[in-house]
Amino acid sequence: MYTETPQEQVKELLHKAEEAFQYLKGRSVIDRAGLMYAIAAKIEGLGTELIATATEESHLPEARLIGEKARTVFQWRSYADHIKEGICFEARIDTAIPDRTPPKPDLRKIKVGVGPVVVFGASNFPFAFSTAGGDTASAIAAGCPVILKAHPGHPKTSSLMAETIADAIKEEGWPDGIFSHVYGSSNESGAYLVQHPIVKSVAFTGSYGGGKALFDLANKREEPIPVFAEMGSVNPVFALPEKMATDPRGLANQYLSSLTLGVGQFCTNPGVLVAVKGKDLEAFKEVLRQEVLNCPPANMLHAGIAKAYRTNSERMLAESTIRVIGKAEQIAAEGQGAALLVETDAKSVVENEALLEEVFGPFGLIVSCESVDEMHRIARHLSGQLTITVAATEADASEHSRLISLLQDKCGRLLFNGMPTGVEVCLAMQHGGPFPATSDVRFTSVGSDAVQRFLRPLSFQNWPDRLLPDQLKNANPLGIYRTVDNILTKERI
Ligand code: NAP
Repeated sequence: MYTETPQEQVKELLHKAEEAFQYLKGRSVIDRAGLMYAIAAKIEGLGTELIATATEESHLPEARLIGEKARTVFQWRSYADHIKEGICFEARIDTAIPDRTPPKPDLRKIKVGVGPVVVFGASNFPFAFSTAGGDTASAIAAGCPVILKAHPGHPKTSSLMAETIADAIKEEGWPDGIFSHVYGSSNESGAYLVQHPIVKSVAFTGSYGGGKALFDLANKREEPIPVFAEMGSVNPVFALPEKMATDPRGLANQYLSSLTLGVGQFCTNPGVLVAVKGKDLEAFKEVLRQEVLNCPPANMLHAGIAKAYRTNSERMLAESTIRVIGKAEQIAAEGQGAALLVETDAKSVVENEALLEEVFGPFGLIVSCESVDEMHRIARHLSGQLTITVAATEADASEHSRLISLLQDKCGRLLFNGMPTGVEVCLAMQHGGPFPATSDVRFTSVGSDAVQRFLRPLSFQNWPDRLLPDQLKNANPLGIYRTVDNILTKERI
């Protein structure tokens, strides 16, 4: 039923997307936000069939999927609110000074959509990061049509979401090229999309191999284009001495819950914890060892991910410097993932980069250090991460400010206590980090700032007022904040 979309049809969809891009440019941002609210309402109205289909395909529990659907609807609404508020378009106006020598022209800059965007649906969030997810919502918010490559792990769910978006677009009277849905059962189909000259940007969430391959293809094009790929991250937790001494049990329970949430299939899963060795760390590990026994194995998203989890865990266990702390008592059946906690020392991690590679699933590596100085070595050695958590008391944080300063260079979100798995959808969220966590450290894929990935600046010089985009007109008809002659204001000119 879900066979590869023939290339001729894909070409047709790409041309429709190109036409839709021209159409979108002619409609106001208020209209576009209206379309997004309509899509949100349509998704919200989807009933039990969607949840049942997604449960069957992804093996995620119903309650989690109900929550994820609400998050998805919220993303559409909040990104629509965001474009209406207008800050994201960064309107800048420098009025003319005709009697200056030489005369200063009237210059007005605004951010506009880059053109059609290819979005790769992610496997681990069938709603919020897939077909109707944040990448699709933020691209449309930016005024860019989307060509969505369905994730092969949940084709029926993807199809239901795609039909819903298409219905809303049709009912609102917008061209169908604003959103297209394609299936591919091989790397070639995705590669074709990324290389097509009509496509101007790409959003991806998945493996390092997939993201990097698509990034390289996009850069080898005659016209290179940006690829916003979210790839691997081990999201280390640096547990500082006073915190570890104060509450090893509480910290262990918090860590284990976050590590095993959703069978560890979150990009923000805290796969590594670094601490100074000693009796407090031993107490922490003892709690982990006891508690992990009771973590039941559960089905993973799809057979490929379960197989990868098994292979990668075995690869880690084969390393001579890795020792098992504890594991789930119940053996994992085919397609399931069982929690596994292992340990090593800082020296081994520094000497062997493979130890810090992501094992996607409920796999935790505890790294013991001789001292906080050795934690500095690990910090310097780390590659880019989505998140780093500092588990600390305020006294710890003040005493070890140099370590915290180093950690800032390695992540997109730095947490003070708590665990990183929850990713709030809001303007101040940064879900993106230095490579290889993402392919472009400057952007986020969660929160309204995600829209920025699909915008580019365009400056208008000496244009008559009535021919300018609304955001740049003297009267400021949208009532947005603009920087006029270097002053941020909502005033008309
Ligand atoms: P994936 O294998 O990277 O696939 C994601 C999407 O990209 C699929 O549509 C896939 O389609 C396409 N793709 C992958 N490699 C490609 C290539 N070389 N050229 C063109 N298209 C390509 O991710 P997954 O299936 O979701 O999970 C596999 C692994 O990814 C997991 O075990 C985990 O390690 C990681 N993962 C990470 C995150 C995260 O948030 N960072 C999320 C999910 C998964 P085709 O297979 O049809 O080519």
